Amino acid sequence: METQTEDLMKLQYGRFGISEQVYAFGEEILASLRGRFERIDKVAEYNQLKVVHAMQQAGVSEACLLGTTGYGYNDLGRDTLEKVYAALFHAEDALVRPQITCGTHALALALMSNLRPGDELLSPVGKPYDTLEEVIGIRPSKGSLREYGITYRQVDLLGDGSFDYDGIRAAVNDRTRLVTIQRSKGYQTRPTLSVERIGELIGFVKEIKPDVICMVDNCYGEFVETIEPTEVGADMAVGSLIKNPGGGLAPIGGYIVGRKECVENAAYRLTSPGLGKEVGASLGILPAFYEGLFLAPTVTASALKGAIFAANIYEKLGFAVVPDGSQERYDIIQAVTFGSPEGVIAFCQGIQAAASVDSFVTPEPWDMPGYDAQVIMAAGAFVSGSSIELSADGPIKPPYAVYFQGGLTFPHAKLGILKTLQNLVDKKIVYIK
Ligand SMILES: *Cc1c(COP(=O)(O)O)cnc(C)c1O
Repeated sequence: METQTEDLMKLQYGRFGISEQVYAFGEEILASLRGRFERIDKVAEYNQLKVVHAMQQAGVSEACLLGTTGYGYNDLGRDTLEKVYAALFHAEDALVRPQITCGTHALALALMSNLRPGDELLSPVGKPYDTLEEVIGIRPSKGSLREYGITYRQVDLLGDGSFDYDGIRAAVNDRTRLVTIQRSKGYQTRPTLSVERIGELIGFVKEIKPDVICMVDNCYGEFVETIEPTEVGADMAVGSLIKNPGGGLAPIGGYIVGRKECVENAAYRLTSPGLGKEVGASLGILPAFYEGLFLAPTVTASALKGAIFAANIYEKLGFAVVPDGSQERYDIIQAVTFGSPEGVIAFCQGIQAAASVDSFVTPEPWDMPGYDAQVIMAAGAFVSGSSIELSADGPIKPPYAVYFQGGLTFPHAKLGILKTLQNLVDKKIVYIK
């Protein structure tokens, strides 16, 4: 029976053009990862209970799944969902809205609503995510913080990835109003920060200047650990619902959780001074937000397993991978450095070929708005552009690293990764024995 199932499995993979050799290579790697996968399942189990408990405590009812139209006054489902998020993140308040269009928008909103002309923004963890460069005005852009007289300062991480405490102390001044800390590596090969390390950094900053607002860009980090940045002193945590917390079901949206005053400021900016959180119809979107949040812990676990599987495959083949095959994980992104555009392109095309949607298209590098180099993106997603679904992208610039993430289920992530390997083997970029 066992061998019969194995044979059927190989046949099944064969339909995707995956050779027995590539399949066997993957199985050998997977066998070595069982212990780690068990630990990931434990975190998912813990976080699943956390979500259910938050929903029960907030009194989520059938009526919460209905929506409002027009102004959206007294939108029970919207207001209750915000209570659920606040409880989950151990925060005073939350803003969780479909009117927040993406992660960049959520971050821009949190920054623009909590900074005033003359204030300074500090990033003590190096360059922020590419799209934030235009929000801040590092690259000149219409409507940037810089246009409003808000300056920016940055302290890079030290060579070994540790915080430059002396540099940070020197950078904090009487205009420093908000400190932005990006949890995930984004399009860089620096290490992702654990929630514990974020807590240490916040503690250090608050010791120098207690009233500074510490904001964490939480994109890709939600549910990877059992605690979130708002539990270690962050005044705000900000993220996208088309990543981890949307569980693959949310078709749009972003969230800001944290101190009441910070969230209120964001609400007055999102809608209007005077209106704040009171308006903003949820239309018919709430079932996807609730159910997506419910699924988010196990979806995040699937994506994590995929990232670890990919790391171990490409590490074994001699490529630089960040995090490495055995490192602890703090986000769902896996960087693999191929050192050539061909490697990046072949990998992304492999991911695309494994998709349920648009598997027949071949992604090519293009000039994507918000990015300073050409980018190739593979995403055959049910939700357009969703990167909690199996996806990969890479800027076409040295060191030619590809960033892989997502997978709503582990079997799908596995298929995608085997497909990238098959593609690289077929193009003679890698050789397996
Ligand atoms: C994805 C991401 C963003 C931006 O989110 P979008 O939804 O793509 O606008 C910002 N910061 C980090 C770390 C991210 O991963």
